[in-house]
Amino acid sequence: MNRLVPLRIWGPSGSVPELGTKYCMEKMQEMYKWDIGTRSGVIDFRGGALEVNEFPFDGINEIIYDENGVVIRSLLTIPLTVAGVQDNARPTKPREKVQSVRHHYFSTGTHKHEAEWSYAGKHGPDFWGTLSPSYHLATDGQKQSPIDIRTDDEVVDEDLPPLMFLYRTEQLSVVNNGHTIQHNEQPGSFLQVGDKVYTLEQFHAHVPSEHTINGKHADMEIHFVHKSPKGQVAVVAVLANADTEKSISLPVHMRLPQIGDAAVEPNRSRNPTDFIPKDHHYFTYSGSFTTPPCTEGVRWIVMTSPIQIAPSTLAHFRQTLGRNVRPVQPLHGRQVAISR
Ligand SMILES: [Zn+2]
Repeated sequence: MNRLVPLRIWGPSGSVPELGTKYCMEKMQEMYKWDIGTRSGVIDFRGGALEVNEFPFDGINEIIYDENGVVIRSLLTIPLTVAGVQDNARPTKPREKVQSVRHHYFSTGTHKHEAEWSYAGKHGPDFWGTLSPSYHLATDGQKQSPIDIRTDDEVVDEDLPPLMFLYRTEQLSVVNNGHTIQHNEQPGSFLQVGDKVYTLEQFHAHVPSEHTINGKHADMEIHFVHKSPKGQVAVVAVLANADTEKSISLPVHMRLPQIGDAAVEPNRSRNPTDFIPKDHHYFTYSGSFTTPPCTEGVRWIVMTSPIQIAPSTLAHFRQTLGRNVRPVQPLHGRQVAISR
């Protein structure tokens, strides 16, 4: 009403103009005028002018709006929303082949391995490399995980990209696959590191921690496993210590399942960011899965601040899981960086 200047709109472009915001708004205006034409009343639509500003539909963190000291940048949600439309618009172009990582990290329940392995005895970590030819990296890999992070001289300060945890809230449900307690994530949770976007696939726990800081284990370590559209894997590791005083972030009222079993946290939704420390400083290095086949090429992001868990929660995990930790592996000249 009484609008004397055009309404200004910002929205994404499309892979073809017909999928962009401008086209959509123009068609809406046409529809509006057409509708007016069918009515007998007189509507003054001088204020109905639109000014549409499009920004690239596949941009991330690009400036969309920069006026009067206000800067708005494109978020990951915009390209992702439009990506599905874009695929439909180009049905003839073959999809890029995605190299999938075959690992139990990406299976949602109990499953068959190449060879059975465990955390102790004849199938323990010392023998993983000999249990199956496909496990050879466990013995001869040069970029294996976990590692001991020496904060004194081996870690270099770097301007690393900030972490954006874009996780959605959902009901927590866990399975016990015999090696860990794992929550399988529904699609829709993302981690953004600089211009790279990964989907959260699952998270699981190790007791005590697999990574050590200056030779010391934390009481527990949670691994948030992410995969990029091209199949690259990024794991965020959160160390957790039992503490009676500070705020506790892990749910304690959940029944932890026995092997092959599953459990759902009743009547409550959780956001996985509840288990991420508020301080987003991190160590990072190139490593591997910490379980057979110990595939390398994993981008490790180890949060520098631990979270606190109740001693009873820790006892519960310890009792259900036993010790599910691979010993630390040699660095072989790898560099560990810490975010400034
Ligand atoms: Zn793990």
